[in-house]
Amino acid sequence: MQNTKDVVVIGGGLAGLAAAAYLGRAGRSVALIEKAHAPGGRAATQESHGFSMNLGAHALYCGGAAHEVLGELGVRFTGAPPPASGAFALDRGAFHTMPSGALSLLTTGLFGLAAKLEMARVLGGLAAMNPAPLASVPVSAWLRDAFRTPEVRRFVGMLVRLTTYCADDDRQSAGAALAQLQLAFAKGVLYLDGGWKTLVDGLRGAATAAGVEILTGVRATRIGAEGGAVSFVELANGERLDTGAALVAASPRAAAALAPESPALAAHAARAVPVHAACLDVALSRLPRPRFRVALGVDRPLYLSLHSDAARLAPAGGALFHAVQYGPELAGRAAERELEDLLDRALPGYRDVLVERRFLPSLVVSNAVVAAEGGGYAARPGVRVPDLDGLFLAGDWVGPTGMLADASLGSARDAAGAILARGARRPLDRAA
Ligand SMILES: Cc1cc2nc3c(=O)[nH]c(=O)nc-3n(C[C@H](O)[C@H](O)[C@H](O)COP(=O)(O)OP(=O)(O)OC[C@H]3O[C@@H](n4cnc5c(N)ncnc54)[C@H](O)[C@@H]3O)c2cc1C
Repeated sequence: MQNTKDVVVIGGGLAGLAAAAYLGRAGRSVALIEKAHAPGGRAATQESHGFSMNLGAHALYCGGAAHEVLGELGVRFTGAPPPASGAFALDRGAFHTMPSGALSLLTTGLFGLAAKLEMARVLGGLAAMNPAPLASVPVSAWLRDAFRTPEVRRFVGMLVRLTTYCADDDRQSAGAALAQLQLAFAKGVLYLDGGWKTLVDGLRGAATAAGVEILTGVRATRIGAEGGAVSFVELANGERLDTGAALVAASPRAAAALAPESPALAAHAARAVPVHAACLDVALSRLPRPRFRVALGVDRPLYLSLHSDAARLAPAGGALFHAVQYGPELAGRAAERELEDLLDRALPGYRDVLVERRFLPSLVVSNAVVAAEGGGYAARPGVRVPDLDGLFLAGDWVGPTGMLADASLGSARDAAGAILARGARRPLDRAA
């Protein structure tokens, strides 16, 4: 690899790959450094016995920034919405029909009459609520003040968890949560054929076609500065890449460690509270109870869905389920037992047809809760690090809009745009 680059991108997840592709297309020389042996990060998919297992349940939000960026970069994918039938709500130990429309609302045993009447109004009214005034309000306060019956509060809380992956109701911004819920209701989500690896492969293809050099299996250790501006990136193998711009597409903690002379990054790393989830992924040789498709916990932060019903993720006749317990109260073996219990109750006999089982006790779903304190999205850092010229950020904790992959890919596009707007600067240009 040539050791002078216009831009060095650190991190080869969705964000780093997309930013590198945009920069390469604009004619910049780009190196992308990924410490793992393959790019992908949290969007990786494990292939095993003909199953494609994402790292826990993944659904692409249609109409969000991720969808747009993938389209702009020509990444092709296919998929389908989650199963519409066979969905149950699990409340106080019993499964109930999921109220998703007028008929199911009328017949479900989940609500009493007062809650049914309120829920009918809520289902019709959520889309029209304005998220902006709720930016600084925690989800817990919003649920308490905006909904009358405890059943409806609990149900809307479940919808918030489902769409944001976050059960930290005292911390999460109700405005951000409502906007995410509205996006999901308005545009829907897709389970992807072949898993999110398809997106990783597509973005990697776009980056390499644009001339990006991808270096895997090596960690970036330091972003060096001269005269208050980025001038090089050091790698764990002893190599040094001279550059006028570095883009960190990794966690806040990784960014702060790479550039310790930035107090702004240290402050963001100290403030960020990650969103965790415990995931139990199970691959089955056949579906034990075909009526069952989805179960969502109302009084407990639980999720179970048959992803292979919608997307091509299993060999013929096989079935792939993802079960999740949303943080923040994850407790290792206790979370595993609760997820096993959910599967045993929802899919009796599943253990007899088990092909593969994977428990992941604490995955980082998002690097930072969008917190009410600080005003929701307003508290997130921008793509340009203010106290070190030439240092940029992308990721699920960066930028003014969107959650999860929408934030990662939206900020990747914005960061690439900010680097291009700054003009090409190499360390040699400054020396000249
Ligand atoms: C269980 C689970 C479920 C999810 N479900 C959804 C969903 O339904 N919808 C949705 O939109 N999103 C979902 N997500 C989130 C989505 O996976 C992420 O938003 C996205 O993959 C993050 O991409 P990224 O590039 O920002 O970060 P990452 O994927 O975290 O990539 C960062 C990369 O940087 C590398 N790195 C870090 N430090 C260094 C260093 N010093 N040198 C070199 N490389 C380094 C890491 O190895 C990693 O590959 C889910 C995530 C999880 C875990």
